Amino acid sequence: MESCESLGIELAVPEKDRPAPCCPHGPTLLFEKVSEGGGRRFYACSACRDRKDCNFFQWEDEKVSEARQLAREEENKSKMPPFTHREHCARFNKFVSLAVHEKRFCTECQLLLLPGEQAAHSSHRLMEVTSAQLRRPSVLLRPLENKKSNAQYLFADRSAHFLLDTLVTLGFKKVLCVGTPRLHELIKLKNLEKKEEPMKSLLLDIDFRYAQFYSQGEFCHYNMFNHHFFGGEAASKVLQSFLSESAGDKVVMVADPPFGGLVKPLANSFSLISHMWKAQQNGGSTVTEMPMMWIFPYFFEPRILECLPSFRMLDYQVDYDNHPLYKHGKTGRKQSPVRLFTNITPRDIVLPKEEGYRFCFACERYVWSLNKHCSKCNMCPSKDGREWKHCLTCEKCVKPSWRHCGACGRCALPDHPCGLSKEEQGCFNCGSLKHKRKACPQKDAQRTHKYGSKTKKGKKSIFAGPIHKAKAKRKSGAARRAKKAAALSL
Ligand code: SAH
Ligand code: ZN
Ligand code: ZN
Ligand code: ZN
Ligand code: ZN
Repeated sequence: MESCESLGIELAVPEKDRPAPCCPHGPTLLFEKVSEGGGRRFYACSACRDRKDCNFFQWEDEKVSEARQLAREEENKSKMPPFTHREHCARFNKFVSLAVHEKRFCTECQLLLLPGEQAAHSSHRLMEVTSAQLRRPSVLLRPLENKKSNAQYLFADRSAHFLLDTLVTLGFKKVLCVGTPRLHELIKLKNLEKKEEPMKSLLLDIDFRYAQFYSQGEFCHYNMFNHHFFGGEAASKVLQSFLSESAGDKVVMVADPPFGGLVKPLANSFSLISHMWKAQQNGGSTVTEMPMMWIFPYFFEPRILECLPSFRMLDYQVDYDNHPLYKHGKTGRKQSPVRLFTNITPRDIVLPKEEGYRFCFACERYVWSLNKHCSKCNMCPSKDGREWKHCLTCEKCVKPSWRHCGACGRCALPDHPCGLSKEEQGCFNCGSLKHKRKACPQKDAQRTHKYGSKTKKGKKSIFAGPIHKAKAKRKSGAARRAKKAAALSL
């Protein structure tokens, strides 16, 4: 079970031979609201955390009538994109052969238009597209801004180039880009330069707009929370053959999932990909796991390592172009909380000296300049980019803002509720010592306060009753993490 701690709901393990019902985003996930009286389990969308995007809800023990089942299937069908991937490819081929002034892109519909279609978009803002722009769909397309499920945060140039250069240095010839459209695009651009041997790249992403620009061998419409291929068996075969290293071409995966996503379903999908890779290796490879990089905030480290014990967190800070919190400014550099998690040997991933990283011979990895080696802990302890300090009593390094508290017998923030063990510290929500956060009566008040405007507008959350609250809590969990991230990025 995945514990979403503060959130009050957990990911549950489905019973064998009971397949999860499908929403338009493929098989749903089974959740459980944790409560004293024992939780009731329910299915909800794996990809969307907002009712606006997908309002699927079903109790685990709910009987679904045949009529409702049919209606659901109809609904799922109606949510399919207006063009198939094959149709998009045919359209693209026509599009590239158009004269320069005929190449139009509808910014409202986010669609490349063919002659004869422009009239239908006459009230929309159209723009001419150059062939250079066609090669940079991640710049042409408007980043999705759905804060809850699907915000797209694109790599800043320096991070994108760092990733690509690293993969080249490590000798990878095939890159599986999971939710990394900008890296995919950069690989294709690099191939055009014809300076080095070409690299192959396959993009798996839930954003179907990319099907307009890439062939069926270059892009699969994919949900990384349930390993679902919208293109069915044929699309999954594309991945399968991409993962074969028959010509000795080493393959690597680079994934940059939405940060609000649950760790366990992601780890599950990545494990499945690794298994697929292994099945393709005819016993030839001595490596037992597919090389992978998973980009995620550092405070998820325990969760990720719990699911994927062979992974290590690197100090490299990933920068984004359009991220409100993590962007580095023009003047000073703002620190990013986003890191690389990888099963590739850390010492092989050279972090750029000019950006302030150095090699630690004891730890055998590259570390951030402020991450000083502690001879007592025998490691470079910092996780958040600040210089941590050793506490002799706790016998470990702690965050710089922490002080050792004699009463608590541990290091903590100076204004921590003192003299109480962690267990006794009561509610993290309201500070009361009489209950824990999960049972906090003010939780609802807080939620209404935070999400009240929504409810007023009539946009109800996915869940009715107690689970409704749980879901809201889940959102506020992500919000809290984002806030924490902001606070920690000095
Ligand atoms: N930094 C990356 C983009 C990361 S944003 C880059 O510059 O290339 C997260 C990406 O994951 C987006 O491309 C988004 O479309 C995709 N995504 C979001 N939810 C997804 C899901 N459930 N399955 C697959 N891809 C998803
Ligand atoms: Zn339009
Ligand atoms: Zn130490
Ligand atoms: Zn201490
Ligand atoms: Zn409380």
